[in-house]
Amino acid sequence: MSDFDTHLTDILSQIETEGLMKRERAVTSPQSAHIDVAGREMLNLCANNYLGLADDARLIAAAKGALDSHGFGMASVRFICGTGELHAALEKRLATFLGMEEAITFAACFDANGAVFEPLFSAEDAIISDALNHASIIDGIRLSKAKRYRFANCDMDDLEQQLKTARADGARFIVIATDGVFSMDGTLAKLRDIRALADQHEALLMVDDCHATGFIGPKGAGTPAHCGVKADILTGTLGKALGGAIGGYIAASKQVVALLRQRARPYLFSNALPPMVCAAGIAALDIVETGDDLRAKLFENTAYWRNALETAGFQTLPGEHPIVPVMLGDARLAQDMAARLDALGVYVSGFFFPVVPKGKARIRTQMNASLTTDDLDRAAAAFAQAGRETGAL
Ligand SMILES: *Cc1c(COP(=O)(O)O)cnc(C)c1O
Repeated sequence: MSDFDTHLTDILSQIETEGLMKRERAVTSPQSAHIDVAGREMLNLCANNYLGLADDARLIAAAKGALDSHGFGMASVRFICGTGELHAALEKRLATFLGMEEAITFAACFDANGAVFEPLFSAEDAIISDALNHASIIDGIRLSKAKRYRFANCDMDDLEQQLKTARADGARFIVIATDGVFSMDGTLAKLRDIRALADQHEALLMVDDCHATGFIGPKGAGTPAHCGVKADILTGTLGKALGGAIGGYIAASKQVVALLRQRARPYLFSNALPPMVCAAGIAALDIVETGDDLRAKLFENTAYWRNALETAGFQTLPGEHPIVPVMLGDARLAQDMAARLDALGVYVSGFFFPVVPKGKARIRTQMNASLTTDDLDRAAAAFAQAGRETGAL
C-alpha cells in the first residue's frame, strides 16, 4: 500500500471506530413506500419522496416519451449545443409555478447553490447565512468573495444584529440566505419575519426550498408562498417531491437569471439535464399544480404518524412538516433503534454527531402520500417494539 493509501485507511478506521461509517444498501425495487432491500420487503420511512411521485406512471411515461422523441443525452453544456426545447419549457414552467420571473436549471440543487453566490455578490457585498443552512449553501458562500456573516438558527434578534453589523461594515448589497425548511428538525424558516427584516435593512432574500417545493404552501409553491412572502432568489430540486430523479434550479428576476447564464460556473462548465428529466419534471409540475389530494394525504399521514409516535411515548420535535424526528439523544441508542427497526422491516436512518449536535441523536422519519394507514400502524408497532427492546421507551 502506498503512504497515501495507508493514510486514507487510517482515516477510514477512525470513522469506523467512532461509529460514524455510513453503509449503502442496494434497493432492488423502484423507490416507493414499500421497497425491496437484499431480498426483503421493507417499509420505507426515510425517502424525500413526499408526494410518492418517484415511481409514478405518468412521470415514467413522460420520461419514456422524451427518450423516444429527444434521445438520451445532450452531450453538451447549455450554451454550446445543449439547450433543447424541453429545457426552455421546464424553466418556463418552474418560473410560473414558483411565481418568479425566470428560472435556470442545473444538474442538481447542490450545483445551483454552488452557482448562485459567486457571480452575483462580490467583495463589496455581504451574505448573512443561517447557522443550520444546508452544506451546499455553505459551500456556495465559500466560493464567493462577499463578506460572510452567520446568525443562530431562526434567531431573528441575531439576524438583525448581523444586518446592522454588515451595514456598519459598509456592505453594498446584503443577501440573507436560508433554507425554507431545516431538514434535520423539519422546522420552517420564519420567512415572514426574515422578509420584514430584509426590507427594513434593504437586504435581498435567498431561500433554498428543497424540502418544501411541491407540498408546502398553496399548490405546493413552497415556504415563501406558505408564509405569504416573496424571496428574491429561490433555489430548489427536482430530486425530492418533484419526482426524485435529479436536477436543480434557481428562480429569480430576469436580470439575475440572465447573469447566471453568463457567469455561473456549474452552468457554463457542466452538462445540460437529459431531455427525459426535463419532460418528467414538467409532468411532475402538472401533477403538483392539481395535487391538493396528494398534499392532503401527506399531511393526514403526518398528523397520524406524529400522534402514533407520541402516543407510544416517543419524543418528537413539534411541527407540521412531514419530516418527523424521533429524538433519542444518545448516538448509540439511535443506531440500536435503527438496527432493530431494520430487523422488523422498517427502513429508517439514524442521525447523530456531526450531522446533528452531540446529545441530539435521532431517527429522522419522513412521511409520504403513498403510505397507507395500515403501513403507519405497522411502523408504529415496530417503533414501540424496538423502543422497548432497546430501552428507548
Ligand atoms: C437535498 C438538498 C439539496 C441538494 O439537492 P440536490 O438536487 O440533491 O443536489 C440542497 N439544499 C437542501 C436544503 C437540500 O435539502
